[in-house]
Amino acid sequence: MKRIVFFALGLVICMRTGLAQEAIHAAASAPEARLLVVRARWLIDGISDKPRRNVQIVIRGGRIVDVIPANSPALPEEAQVIDLGDATLLPGLIDCHTHIFLQGEDPAAGGYDAQLLKFPASYRVVRAVVAARRALEQGFTSIRDVETEGAGYGDVGVKQAINEGIIPGPRMWVSTVSISSTGGYPLEGYAPEITVPKGSQLIDGPVEARKAAREQLDKGADWIKVYMTHRSWVDAQGALVSQPTLTLEELKAIVDETHGWGRKVACHAYNGLGLQRALDGGCDSIEHGLEISDAQIAQMLRQGTWYVPTLQVYYTDWDPADTDSGKRDRKRVAVHGVSFGKALHAGVKIAFGTDVGGFKWSEPIAEEFSREVQFGMTPMQAIQSATSRAAELLGKRGEIGVVAAGAYADLIAVARDPLADVNALKSVEFVMKDGVVYKSSTGERAP
Ligand SMILES: [Zn+2]
Repeated sequence: MKRIVFFALGLVICMRTGLAQEAIHAAASAPEARLLVVRARWLIDGISDKPRRNVQIVIRGGRIVDVIPANSPALPEEAQVIDLGDATLLPGLIDCHTHIFLQGEDPAAGGYDAQLLKFPASYRVVRAVVAARRALEQGFTSIRDVETEGAGYGDVGVKQAINEGIIPGPRMWVSTVSISSTGGYPLEGYAPEITVPKGSQLIDGPVEARKAAREQLDKGADWIKVYMTHRSWVDAQGALVSQPTLTLEELKAIVDETHGWGRKVACHAYNGLGLQRALDGGCDSIEHGLEISDAQIAQMLRQGTWYVPTLQVYYTDWDPADTDSGKRDRKRVAVHGVSFGKALHAGVKIAFGTDVGGFKWSEPIAEEFSREVQFGMTPMQAIQSATSRAAELLGKRGEIGVVAAGAYADLIAVARDPLADVNALKSVEFVMKDGVVYKSSTGERAP
């Protein structure tokens, strides 16, 4: 496709007469919100198997009211038309595993520890605000942010500021502090006499587990994030081993409490016993799932458990090959792609997640798409994992992750065809959320 031309900021205002369809008529009769029309050569709507050609999206009051052919004869007089030329329109993307309070874990920059030990809380919030804007500018109009890594309830305030229009950012589902067990989360390697901050709320026993869930839910967690495994290593037989953290009874108390609030539990689980407890305890989504056995895949299918694999992050920050941690880093990716392929072909529900924050926000979030394709998804399946499937995970089917009447007007556009090369999604050139244009240039804005 040739270079696209955006008219988003200097809107081309098309004066039309008459009404194309009943839906437009209904929308036009609501004078409190202007009528917008976004037009492009191609539409990937998030659900359909094939793209549609020459469409226009009719928007009123932040919602899509209709999707009609571009040659529909008439639009209401006041319609403002954003013509994206040869571009491909898609629903706003959804990343189901982010950390806006993390800024990469590059050892040369102090890694994870420096962020908890040296960054003032105010600085962490400022960086999180920038990260949220980065997500939006890269086309991610919704994120599930799965814990603040020692930054307390900071995500609740960032979400509020976005929802009130004070700062730009995606729709957020937040999980606040997260839950693990004593000895089940960094920081590590400090003198035992020193108390260092924790990246998670550490509990022991089902009573403390339920109390932690109650506290976090009460203070604004939309999801509860639980760590079911922690350290991992390669054993003498060359197998990946992960230390389990919470007991089954502890997890069941958390899941029972959280489900009672009508909310859900995301479980960080690499493999082995911890992953098995995550499934037996009723986790709603398995995060990472580096190595999932056939029996565990069958259990995920039976229980309807989601899989949020986060493939790309495990290709970053490897230790040297001849070290124990370096061997672990390489073993992780060796088993991860295999598990992903098996789960995909078995029909496990897979939602797009990246763990961005675990790698720098200056890296393209959309790199994950090419890993999904590498391990077996079609480009369309990869796109749907970050649109309609992710919306289903979040309980927002039909409202986000789809371009259809009734959905929020969250739209993005790319110049190249993402079905020919999913890397086209790394260059999002137009972003609209709630019917408001946040980006319409051809270049990335620096954070
Ligand atoms: Zn994570």
